[in-house]
Amino acid sequence: MAYGLTMKMKEFNTSSIDRRSWLKSAGLVSAASFLSGAHAAAEEKMTPAKKVRGVVFMVSDGMSPGVLSLAEAYSQLTRQRSTQWWQMLNNPSATRGLMDTASANSLVTDSAAASSAWGSGQRVNNGSINVNPDGKEITPIAALLRKKNAVIGLVTTATVTHATPAGFAASIASRSDERLIAPQYLDRVDIILGGGSGFFDAKQRSDQRDLAGDFKKSGYEVVSDRDQLLAAKGAKLLGTFAKGHLPFSLDRDHDASLAASVPSLVEMTQAALGRFLAGDKPFLLQVEGARIDHAAHLNDIGALLGDQIAFDDAVAAVLTMTAKHEDILVVVTSDHGNSNPGLNGMGDGYSESNQHFRNIARFKASHERVFGEWNAKPNGDAGTISALVAKHLGFDLKKSEAEALIAILHKENVVEWNHQLEKPEGLLGQFAGNHTGIGWTGTTHTSDPTLLSAIGPQSSRFSGIIRNSDVFGHLMEMLG
Ligand SMILES: [Zn+2]
Repeated sequence: MAYGLTMKMKEFNTSSIDRRSWLKSAGLVSAASFLSGAHAAAEEKMTPAKKVRGVVFMVSDGMSPGVLSLAEAYSQLTRQRSTQWWQMLNNPSATRGLMDTASANSLVTDSAAASSAWGSGQRVNNGSINVNPDGKEITPIAALLRKKNAVIGLVTTATVTHATPAGFAASIASRSDERLIAPQYLDRVDIILGGGSGFFDAKQRSDQRDLAGDFKKSGYEVVSDRDQLLAAKGAKLLGTFAKGHLPFSLDRDHDASLAASVPSLVEMTQAALGRFLAGDKPFLLQVEGARIDHAAHLNDIGALLGDQIAFDDAVAAVLTMTAKHEDILVVVTSDHGNSNPGLNGMGDGYSESNQHFRNIARFKASHERVFGEWNAKPNGDAGTISALVAKHLGFDLKKSEAEALIAILHKENVVEWNHQLEKPEGLLGQFAGNHTGIGWTGTTHTSDPTLLSAIGPQSSRFSGIIRNSDVFGHLMEMLG
């Protein structure tokens, strides 16, 4: 089956030189290694298309295309520097493309169907993980590559059994059966890092199975906090750092105890990729910034940009680690859009857009935390929600806004102009937009194609418009 593009040898070699040149300009390799690398690249002109030993497949979950430029502006605002993905798109040796993200039953995919398309080559219905519309289980790519002596890694800020990691390594009719996904990783996935400890714990599993114990017996080092991860020596790792999803970066960054106990996406990525690079086996590593999607569902621009920046830092870490490895391909993309945030023109002649955008940097907590604290205060009123918003998000709700929020929190019937917004998070997102300039199309996924970039050997496979289900064939051709 012809899955991919017919590659011209010359394209690879040119790409190889340009990649080194760009990495050097981005400060990712030393001048000395660049010179020896350029020499090596010249010799490679005589060799056939370069072999791929490993693929790092990086997913910013639920990242609408506009998030790229919002994150770039936010990084310039708060860190006075560019984002890695923005630079990657400006690099002539990195490929650029769009991912066609539809599922079998909808133009708008969910993460389960999207990751299944990547992980098995077939579009399935939303909600299913590698089970086709006729109910037939499809073998996921992790199981196929295991037979070829490859090692597999899944790194995420969601539960490790969430839809996007599961799409590479599990088959299940309903994505919500995470309890049944967890055992499928045993001896199929070598490095598993993220949230979701509850799905491995005998006390929290309905079948009382000591799944973490089974992983230990099978040779995995099992870790549950940041220090344990950083000290771990095992080649096989199961690390779960929260019962559910890991916290938003925005909340982690403003909470010393969370920062001390929960590793960052960069740290988890380094732990996984470092092990794979040190070995000599073929590998497939999926790295997911999962909570960009959750923040978009919550219309929470502060949490969204915090996690997008954390994902971007992971991209930078991966490019640094792989700079001297000419046999590693790095792919960066998203599975679908979500609520399509954008900066609107604010004020006369849009003269106030910049100052509105700057207000995002005043957010000190996620909307999730605002609503969490609200739920912990029984008998809260308009004053209570206004105080929480002022404390955590740095702006004052109007009286009418606070009253509308209270009505919807109390599930009273209110007139909503768009049914997407008939929930507190949608309403708060709109009110926040009066101060940040950020507007949203709704609170659910969207049909937009997503951004796609790749760098490394055979990166040309990931240029132009790629159907999500074609990714599987490319991965199998390179690693299988
Ligand atoms: Zn979602």
